[in-house]
Amino acid sequence: MRLSEVVGHKRLTALISRAIDRDTLPPTLLFAGPAGIGKWVVAQATAQALNCLEPVRNLREEPPSGTAARTFVENLLPIDACGKCRACDRIARGVHVDVIALEPDERTSIKIDLVRDLLSRTGYRPFEGKRRVVLIREADTLEPEAQNSLLKSLEEPPPGTIFILTTVIPGALLPTVRSRCMRLRFGRLTASEVSTALVRDHGQSEAEARVAAPLADGSIGQALALSDTDLTALRDSALELLQQTSGRADTQARLQAATNLVGQKTKERDREELAVVLRLTASMLRDIEAINAGADRRVIANPQLTGDLSTLARAFSGDRARSAFGAVDRALTALERNAGTKVVAEWLAVQI
Ligand SMILES: [Zn+2]
Repeated sequence: MRLSEVVGHKRLTALISRAIDRDTLPPTLLFAGPAGIGKWVVAQATAQALNCLEPVRNLREEPPSGTAARTFVENLLPIDACGKCRACDRIARGVHVDVIALEPDERTSIKIDLVRDLLSRTGYRPFEGKRRVVLIREADTLEPEAQNSLLKSLEEPPPGTIFILTTVIPGALLPTVRSRCMRLRFGRLTASEVSTALVRDHGQSEAEARVAAPLADGSIGQALALSDTDLTALRDSALELLQQTSGRADTQARLQAATNLVGQKTKERDREELAVVLRLTASMLRDIEAINAGADRRVIANPQLTGDLSTLARAFSGDRARSAFGAVDRALTALERNAGTKVVAEWLAVQI
């Protein structure tokens, strides 16, 4: 994928393109940001833009379909890969001799042997490319000795070589490695960007993408993982939480609701799954507010639940839906900050 085709991250892709054009791209880059948002795709696109045999200049990006012209911030890329030449093709297929990618193995670490092998290959000038690009995915999985063996190369990269490391947790890298890299922070995508990527790059239908995108917390990876799980069960859990806490439930009943929320009959629900249930709960509370405000039924995000939500709307009248929404939001923040799932569920069941 070319830089101009990357979904989201417009400021960063423009920055990279400008730096390539001016020949000022730092030789050691660290792409940091949440999982599944496209850091690796941008790293590969950068390798293509650096090595393309027929680069395209001053590429004006077309507004995505459905975007109002006035809200579209034009992204002018001074240079980008053509996406068609021999170099672009080889990089896309992962067989370009000068673009070396290191990824963690199934045991989820990158061993020192791999790094030694890599370093022996960077001792020469690029064979056929203009630049040698070393891409290291999930660089935090580099074993400490492997990180140490990279230090010298990061400090003084061999001529013509650019290192791009990607990571979800920059803090897990040795400080000596971090300090030698220029860090670019990648943010989460908007729900509509996730939806665009699901349809364009992952063959989902518009309808599937519309359901998954708002639940994916700005991550294409999470949206894809979600399509494999049973969304219906998660939706039932969210509805159940609201039903069990809607009346004058006593503390005992509320704690039971919390237990149902985290413990799915047999196995404990993990953090990400719980977060999806909470996002579904938030979207139902928004629907309840809309129903109470007499809003048009077409704005309801969960039309298949209109009956249940209308019943709940009576219990969540006045400010209650809004304050419950605030509680769900705080619970999601606590989950992101690694609070225990049980603690979060219990707190929420009492607050809602
Ligand atoms: Zn090309």
